[in-house]
Amino acid sequence: MKIGILGSGLAGLSAALQLADKNEVVIFEKNDSPGGCMSSLTYNNTYTLETLYHHCFSGDTNLFSLLENLDLKTDMIWLKGSTGYYMDGKLHPLTTPLEILRYPCLTFFQKFRLGLFVISSRKINLSQLDKVTAKEYLFEKVGKDIYNAFFAPLLTSKFGSMKDDVSAAWLMSRIAIRSDRGTEGERLGYLKGGWHKLIDAMMEKLEKMGAEIRLSTPVITLVRKNEKWQINGEEFDAVISTLPPQITNSLMGNSTDKLPDLMYQGAACMTLGLARDPTNGIYWTNMGDPAPYGAVVTHTNFVPFKWYGEHVVYLASYFKDEPDSGLKDRMIDDFCKRFSIDISEIHHADLYIDRFAGPVYVTGYKDSIPPANIGDNLFIAGMFSPENYPERSMEGSISAGLNAAKLLEENNR
Ligand SMILES: Cc1cc2nc3c(=O)[nH]c(=O)nc-3n(C[C@H](O)[C@H](O)[C@H](O)COP(=O)(O)OP(=O)(O)OC[C@H]3O[C@@H](n4cnc5c(N)ncnc54)[C@H](O)[C@@H]3O)c2cc1C
Repeated sequence: MKIGILGSGLAGLSAALQLADKNEVVIFEKNDSPGGCMSSLTYNNTYTLETLYHHCFSGDTNLFSLLENLDLKTDMIWLKGSTGYYMDGKLHPLTTPLEILRYPCLTFFQKFRLGLFVISSRKINLSQLDKVTAKEYLFEKVGKDIYNAFFAPLLTSKFGSMKDDVSAAWLMSRIAIRSDRGTEGERLGYLKGGWHKLIDAMMEKLEKMGAEIRLSTPVITLVRKNEKWQINGEEFDAVISTLPPQITNSLMGNSTDKLPDLMYQGAACMTLGLARDPTNGIYWTNMGDPAPYGAVVTHTNFVPFKWYGEHVVYLASYFKDEPDSGLKDRMIDDFCKRFSIDISEIHHADLYIDRFAGPVYVTGYKDSIPPANIGDNLFIAGMFSPENYPERSMEGSISAGLNAAKLLEENNR
């Protein structure tokens, strides 16, 4: 069979690896490099780093099998992920129990209540929470004061004006996974040398298997004709699209309303190379105070500094529709003032924009997830798939890609 795969992110590449030994596989990618959300850039001609911060979790079984198949399992390292909260003009470390006890922006009783709530998150049935907003749920479970003092700034920085629509299922899944920590903080996984090694190895294996990967080749049209699919006019027996459902729909000329229009948000993520560490050893700092970025992710407080020769920091922000104009300058200005960084201490600053960085898990989202098998040998997989509910991940996109490939094979047996 001749199979067309739309998109070279983890979902597309995983599906392709599953299918390429027995089929003629062609992957279409609009960008000039593969990987989608997992694409990387080389800095200072010395190190290659993902444009968006990534780590994995101990339960990512399909990711680990993939690494094993590609002889990369031994490159997996487990590191401490320390956290902080920037609130009332100050960076507060929040990794160890003592640091949490010392956090001044909540009372002792509020911290105790919050602690009990976090512990209870691990036993919750998430499917029951899909129709409840995170705000309603938090009001009920921890009260308005803790919501306003702790959760509201986090939800605002992640979802902006959409924060009141996000479901409690999303929130509780995040809390459950991020609270799986010891007294030293979370253990998070990283691939020694960078995640680009995974994408490179997938590409290399696919090429060896005979798959064709067409970079800088956006899919413009997807047409059903004479029992076949035509991608940009070229005929295929079957298609797997890993693009957002509404984009797949529009490629078909919106001739079908088979796929739902899911709400997505974009990510604007700045990578900085710096002369010094702005966050005092902390890896992940959430911004509680309003700022043009929602988190400061100091990569070199997670992965050893010596691999980079400079401090590497991501400023993470999300947007609806389009990013604000002038965002890059506003991010740099704010960051320099807030963290007392002189502009001369910034070696390089690159802003990466991904318009479709993930669906927004609003209430009722679960019922709108489209099935992977659309019919007529068209399959879909990606950040919107059930495997990525209620939060997208590398693991979810790999699993979704594998599932779409399996369904395609079953359908054509
Ligand atoms: C800011 C951010 C941080 C993240 N951090 C983590 C993390 O720490 N841990 C974790 O597990 N997960 C993380 N994720 C999630 C993870 O990156 C994704 O779930 C996964 O990489 C998505 O893969 P995908 O193939 O589903 O989608 P994508 O990576 O989006 O791939 C889709 C591909 O389709 C291409 N495309 C789009 N339109 C067309 C077209 N018309 N023609 C051809 N090609 C097209 C795109 O260029 C892209 O390459 C993060 C995501 C983001 C946005």
